[in-house]
Amino acid sequence: MKREHFRKKLEAEKVRLEAELGTVGRKNPRVPDDWEPIPSETGTEADLADQADVVMNRENNAAILADLEARYDTIISALVRLEKKTYGKCEVCNKGIVEARLEADPAATTCTEHM
Ligand SMILES: [Zn+2]
Repeated sequence: MKREHFRKKLEAEKVRLEAELGTVGRKNPRVPDDWEPIPSETGTEADLADQADVVMNRENNAAILADLEARYDTIISALVRLEKKTYGKCEVCNKGIVEARLEADPAATTCTEHM
């Protein structure tokens, strides 16, 4: 198991996701590792059409943020498993996950049989 190799891949994806999360959300100051959509300024728009755009944007951002955050959480838990040395084991049958699968998705939690 090339632990350092996968750790680097996971760290790289974590950094990338944090950058992406930073474009649609901000870290929740009250909850560590939680993100909230960036609140947009309402009430400053000139007309209703602009306001509708703002609402659409906010809903889009929330959806994108939810996806990114879900992925971010799987990366974090994969890093935790690396620390606990349970990384690379299928969570269903506890067999080792083949490296090719981890190469494709370093955050994979199941073997090819249980994916
Ligand atoms: Zn399995």
